Amino acid sequence: VVKTLTRGWALLARVPDPEIPAISVVDLGIVRSVDESPDGRAVHVVLTPTYSGCPATEVIRHDVRAALEATYEEVEIEVRLSPAWTTDWLSDAGRSALREHGIAPPAAAPIDLGASIPVGSPHEDNRPDSCPVCGAADLEELAPFGSTPCQALWRCRSCREPFGYFKRH
Ligand SMILES: [Zn+2]
Repeated sequence: VVKTLTRGWALLARVPDPEIPAISVVDLGIVRSVDESPDGRAVHVVLTPTYSGCPATEVIRHDVRAALEATYEEVEIEVRLSPAWTTDWLSDAGRSALREHGIAPPAAAPIDLGASIPVGSPHEDNRPDSCPVCGAADLEELAPFGSTPCQALWRCRSCREPFGYFKRH
């Protein structure tokens, strides 16, 4: 998908996700659309939070508004819950940024997500591909929930480093 880099997209690319500041709200895939009025004075943004009831949603709304109000006279933010956000919406840049910050990105292998698998559901294929520290594939899960509900805690059997895994959902 080629996105036209409007001013709005460029401004939002600098807004970090409050839970994982290593990636922007754009790379996280929660900004679904950015539409400018023809005169460039107003902007309409559609956000889809990572999961409904995510406590970070209000923070994100506030940060997105603040980032846009410096440029636009009128900022309208719409929160859309359907279709639900999925980790497949993470950009390649977002996946790389996660790995650089020691968090394993969601599994790339296709798995049958179905329509109703809630965050954190166990799934045998829902596991990191490799250790974000050393790249080894010999990994073990320590805990199904890590520093955020979206993450699980894993450890590399090769370098022994524990790391967060951004669960696919
Ligand atoms: Zn390792």
